[in-house]
Amino acid sequence: MSDITELSNFINGEWRPANCEHWIEDYSPANGAHIARIPCSSSEDIDAAVEAALDAADNWANLSIAERADWLDTIAGALEERAEEVAQLESLDTGKPISLARSVDAARSVANFRFFAEQGREFESEVFEMSDATNRVVYKPVGVAGLITPWNLPLYLLSWKVAPALLMGNTVVAKPSEMTPMTASLLAEVIEDVGLPRGVFNLVHGNGIDAGAPLTSHPDVNLISFTGGTTTGREVAKSASSGFKKLSLELGGKNATIIRADVDIENMIHGIVRASFLNQGQVCLCGSRILIHESIYDTFVEAFLNAVANMVVGDPADEGTELGALISAAHRDKVLSYIDLAEEEGGDILCGGGAPVGIPQAFENGYWVSPTVIDGLAPDSRCSTEEIFGPVVTLHPFSDDEEAIEIANMTDYGLAGSIWTADIEAGSAMAEQIDSGMIWVNCWLHRDLRVPFGGVKNSGVGREGGRWSLGFFSEAINICVKH
Ligand code: NAP
Repeated sequence: MSDITELSNFINGEWRPANCEHWIEDYSPANGAHIARIPCSSSEDIDAAVEAALDAADNWANLSIAERADWLDTIAGALEERAEEVAQLESLDTGKPISLARSVDAARSVANFRFFAEQGREFESEVFEMSDATNRVVYKPVGVAGLITPWNLPLYLLSWKVAPALLMGNTVVAKPSEMTPMTASLLAEVIEDVGLPRGVFNLVHGNGIDAGAPLTSHPDVNLISFTGGTTTGREVAKSASSGFKKLSLELGGKNATIIRADVDIENMIHGIVRASFLNQGQVCLCGSRILIHESIYDTFVEAFLNAVANMVVGDPADEGTELGALISAAHRDKVLSYIDLAEEEGGDILCGGGAPVGIPQAFENGYWVSPTVIDGLAPDSRCSTEEIFGPVVTLHPFSDDEEAIEIANMTDYGLAGSIWTADIEAGSAMAEQIDSGMIWVNCWLHRDLRVPFGGVKNSGVGREGGRWSLGFFSEAINICVKH
């Protein structure tokens, strides 16, 4: 018997084979083993899913927001019962450490449903009084929501879209990354088990061209929420804009980590290393450029390299592992090509630069790159301004806050960043001058789900999170009644 899992689409409450004869194979990043296959779905499968979502739309929209919030809580409860399975599948499918998959991926996927259920219960629409009239704002569903997600935080990001989309009365067609299909299928199982009305949530597996593109251009899809790379986002924007769809784009980043001269290196170094390498550097928010005040450059670099050397890279299933494998052979090769480019651009590889030394034989066919630190590059070099999306950071000295801000803003991206300093006031003032959607001071990826999340410049369009998600996944209608 084969150990390979065959996944199907989930359309109108049923598991359906796709209208195609091709499969997309899914491999374990840790050892290259063949673990699953998904249907290479086409526009016909998208059509069927959209039709199911349309058929279910009116009944779902007619529920009260409190009733839909109850459904989210029910999904959260059922998902929580399978949290360990979510973590195991996510670690297998992405190559990330099991401890991370448990504490971040599985926990946050459940939390997303609970959080938006709570948001629904607290939701109040606005009333604006005039001397002679009353305005009442009504939030209506947008219709069918197309949700497209990447591979780095598969269920974490999918649930971040599914929960608010359902809460605000939309029905959903989800297209997860072909490279990490497992937990999206698990979510569909949970949704089937709890008995969510048919057609409210539909899942179509497949690749971006054959399944993603038909979803973004489908005339009956009214909203697209996309998380992925900037180049893909541009295509999605073109396709969605001609149909005047509501659009949210959460795209790539090249985030700066700014180390001011007064930083408490000993106490902050762990946080700075985490900001650099969490999930093998495959978090859009990771700080891949570290800007260090020149007066502490050597001291900081020594402490940083020591901390990086102590990171445990290896078997993702091992509780003590801190860094796992990269998502695919192609992505590993892209990351390695940037390390080659760094050398051509005059950089010094201070550590890493290839597969980890001494990786056990069982993982030799996996996609590994050890944490890599590069010094000596110009801040406007390609390696210092383009998104690498792997365990690679570049180091740059600066002489004063103005220069740090100038370097931080020297990319086409504007997603996130962090500033590490003993002077909270100076750090906060600096944060306002960085062209990014999110800046942390003395922390990183410290998330309050109520705050706006999103990027500026080439990092995206729109905001999700808290009431921003509720606004995006609904149409605000004003009703003005003359007294
Ligand atoms: P990607 O290649 O852009 O893919 C993202 C999703 O889009 C996948 O499901 C992909 O399908 C699909 N897709 C590809 N072409 C499409 C098309 N023409 N029309 C519609 N959908 C299409 O990104 P990725 O490599 O998966 O993810 C890494 C990127 O995501 C990085 O740039 C990272 O910074 C970004 N990211 C951003 C955030 C954020 O919140 N800003 C969060 C996480 C990740 P297939 O892959 O199956 O072909």
